[in-house]
Amino acid sequence: MHRELPWCVCGVRWVSTGFLTLWVTAVFAQDPILVVGHKNPDTDAIISAIAAAALKSALGDPAQARSQGDANPETRFILKRFGYETPPVQATYAKNRVILVDHSDRAQAPDDLDRAHLVGLFDHHKLGDVQSAEPIEVIVMPVGSTATVLQELFAQRGVAIDPPLAGLMLGAILSDTRSFRSPTTTQRDRVAAQTLADRSGVLRMEEFGRELLLAYNEQMKTMNDETLIGLDLKVFEMGRAKVGISQIEAFDIGFLRERLTGLRKAMDDQVRRSNLQAMVLAITDIEREGSLLLVAGPRANQAGKALDISDLDGTWRSGVMSRKKQLVPPLEDSFSR
Ligand code: MN
Ligand code: MN
Repeated sequence: MHRELPWCVCGVRWVSTGFLTLWVTAVFAQDPILVVGHKNPDTDAIISAIAAAALKSALGDPAQARSQGDANPETRFILKRFGYETPPVQATYAKNRVILVDHSDRAQAPDDLDRAHLVGLFDHHKLGDVQSAEPIEVIVMPVGSTATVLQELFAQRGVAIDPPLAGLMLGAILSDTRSFRSPTTTQRDRVAAQTLADRSGVLRMEEFGRELLLAYNEQMKTMNDETLIGLDLKVFEMGRAKVGISQIEAFDIGFLRERLTGLRKAMDDQVRRSNLQAMVLAITDIEREGSLLLVAGPRANQAGKALDISDLDGTWRSGVMSRKKQLVPPLEDSFSR
């Protein structure tokens, strides 16, 4: 008598093994996409990785957030406030499908990115030099944060954002735009932030922004000079030069002014360690809207000239708030020549 077999067992009989393997691989064995922000991650890099992973997963392509380094105190404050864990720190991505967020420069991407499968890129910076071997989704917008880009994508694709995730993304926008004070802020950031605030239940947005800045400020006072200059350091390849630009943002930079000698020494150490031709430190005063700029390295004079700095050990430049808009372009201009 014919005994009925489950359909999958019949499938094994009829479908060639090769085809079956392919099918099983495609359906079951696909590793999740890993979503990761830049080295030395800031709040936008980590939260945008979480948000992009949530969006991809909601659209049916399982994804997980990773980080290329420890979360800074501000990021930890926001994650804790909305009940999130810090994404696992991971350095190697070979063979994985990868989405990059908040950067597209190789120098800021995982070292083994060439051996991974880059499948997506969500960013709000100048287009960098990463490459992909296969077709890839690239969404780069001239807005104040990657979280803004992602809020728009959630809306466009009709995916609802969980209230705690909305809170996180609001935190990322407020962080990257320094509560809309940064010149990188656009109207789209304000609209995205308001939408997220409504969704998250964080009604007093300005208050939340101030809370973030104060939490960060207080924690910075406990850090040593080396940690401070490494908090938000980005290294750029400009022409044949490696140029590091570090930014420390505070409500009131008084406590940092008292530590200029130590910070300057930490810069010299960093220049040697990372083999930089020049390093700029911007100590940005959010309340007074300007930055104290310091320059170190064998080509410090050239960097100083590019930035119109008279004293390399500390020149106040009123209105200078954005690395991306006000420091990178003149330096790139000078070093790429
Ligand atoms: Mn960033
Ligand atoms: Mn960003």
